[in-house]
Amino acid sequence: MPELPEVETTVAGLRQVLDGARLTLVETRRADLRFPFPVDLRQRLTGATVTGLGRRAKYGLIETDRGDTMIFHLGMSGRWRIDPGEIGKHDHLIVETPTHRLALHDPRRFGFVHLVESAALASYRHFAGLGPEPLSDDFTPAYLAQALDNRIAPIKAMLLDQRIVAGLGNIYVCEALNIAGIAPTREAGRIGKARLVRLVEAIKAVLRAAILAGGSTLRDYARPDGELGYFAKDWRVYGREGEICPCGGVVQRRIDSGRSTFHCRSCQT
Ligand SMILES: [Zn+2]
Repeated sequence: MPELPEVETTVAGLRQVLDGARLTLVETRRADLRFPFPVDLRQRLTGATVTGLGRRAKYGLIETDRGDTMIFHLGMSGRWRIDPGEIGKHDHLIVETPTHRLALHDPRRFGFVHLVESAALASYRHFAGLGPEPLSDDFTPAYLAQALDNRIAPIKAMLLDQRIVAGLGNIYVCEALNIAGIAPTREAGRIGKARLVRLVEAIKAVLRAAILAGGSTLRDYARPDGELGYFAKDWRVYGREGEICPCGGVVQRRIDSGRSTFHCRSCQT
């Protein structure tokens, strides 16, 4: 499942082929993914020139010279394919420039595409109320201390709450809590300042390392059927139940509301 670093890497790959390019063809091959494609997507994007690409939380942003921003979310299984050899049945949106063809590929169709006026981006319904970006200067131990003040929910649930911090998913929260030595069940409002400093550092570090790993795969993007945004990772605890934590303890898995938490009782308290 794509998380923030995968989206960041996807945007970096798309930037190489889309930034400054004119969109010569925009074609939807079905009416909807998780939500319907905007009915005027083709009309508003065909002939437009891409003026910039970006990311907010787990959303990719493609901005055009017509004052529109196309927002894409990769859902569970979405990915962009650059210059695919052929278009398959899971390629639901085709975008062409004079030099490239791109396909948004999403077998499970939990992703979606929206189109909003760039000037109104901040009030887009999925962005309103989002917390700060974890890699931004706004995400500090002081901010987190204030956001968690008096909260009795477990720290893991708080970090997954997009109003507290935007774009963190299960994998990176498990990893960051392990690095910071904090139990996922720890009451959020009772974590001391020094531990919050370690936690904020750990969150930024795991995300940066994953983005760096994704960036190193960019050179493969030009190959036929190149797929953006997925890369092998080496986790400390995620998906490693029964294996040895870097501290020498054993990684355990617990399930809360259907979601797996991987953690180590020896070093996370
Ligand atoms: Zn451990």
